[in-house]
Amino acid sequence: MKSLSQIFASPHPVISIEIFPPKTEKGDRLLYETLDCLTQYQPAFVSCTYGAGGTTRTRTIDLCLEIQRRYEIPATAHFTCVGSTRDELVEWLTAATANGVQNIMALRGDAPKGEDCFKAVEGGLSYANELVELIRTLHPNMGIGVAAYPEKHLEAPDMDTDLANLKRKIDAGADASFSQLFFVNENFFRFRELYDAQQITIPLVAGIMPITSFDRIKKITAMCGAIFPEELASKLEAVKDDEEAQLQIGVDHATQQCVELLDQGVAGIHFYALNRSDACKRILENLDLSSRMAAS
Ligand code: FAD
Repeated sequence: MKSLSQIFASPHPVISIEIFPPKTEKGDRLLYETLDCLTQYQPAFVSCTYGAGGTTRTRTIDLCLEIQRRYEIPATAHFTCVGSTRDELVEWLTAATANGVQNIMALRGDAPKGEDCFKAVEGGLSYANELVELIRTLHPNMGIGVAAYPEKHLEAPDMDTDLANLKRKIDAGADASFSQLFFVNENFFRFRELYDAQQITIPLVAGIMPITSFDRIKKITAMCGAIFPEELASKLEAVKDDEEAQLQIGVDHATQQCVELLDQGVAGIHFYALNRSDACKRILENLDLSSRMAAS
């Protein structure tokens, strides 16, 4: 299986799909139906999140291995510092690599439910750059992705500080940066200029979350701080009793975002699919990537 640095050696934009480990058998079925559908569009890899507070410690690895086995597509295991000592992080890394995980999204993570801010456990790590350093030292060939925030991380005092902190992760050995979801392309492009001005040369991938329900996206943006354009909110408000209309508005918006991003030479698009195929499938159909790539 290819590592992230091999995947991003491609001359074409890299498409990836993010999913999360389901908690029920029904959720498992839905996930594999989603992957059966979306893998037909040949994503370069699938990434699997790590539950808040470390709740999916082994499930994330198991799911990555199953995805690699079933679809012969590289998987990337997300991994956070939350609730683990350095020794426990090393233990997880050893298990993941021994089982065939070759790519990791290295994250700090958020405070567990009920706590207001992230605090490292005693003997644990405080920031994602420390995790990147740990992985790179112990597993020099591991592919490492890190999170980037085109509209600034919620806790960062300003964009310059946040970017300097992103640079620490890159200097520690990350292979690619994956952006937080955003709905306003101008914000991503402005961030990319700052990113490039720092002489950062690893790929910056755009994170796109298709809107499937206005209520759901309101909750998600409130949590991660993504700016939601008023015009888009009004359109969704006008069809608040019509799920299909909301989905279609989300598909149209994400399609427009992706077309512009691809036209502007984005290194890749990472779809936050939330274990559903309906919106991503329509967007990928609209983009007709194979024709685009053949023409480029
Ligand atoms: P960091 O890079 O450590 O940054 C956190 C904050 O600290 C920022 O404000 C930064 O500016 C500051 N900072 C960073 N380094 C330093 C330093 N050395 N000194 C001082 N300040 C510093 N969460 C999950 O729980 N599971 C997941 O699977 C998951 N997947 C994600 C995937 C992507 C692509 C993205 C964008 C986010 C994901 N998250 C996930 C959410 C992520 O855990 C949160 O956004 C979290 O708040 C920050 O994680 P980070 O890795 O960006 O942290």
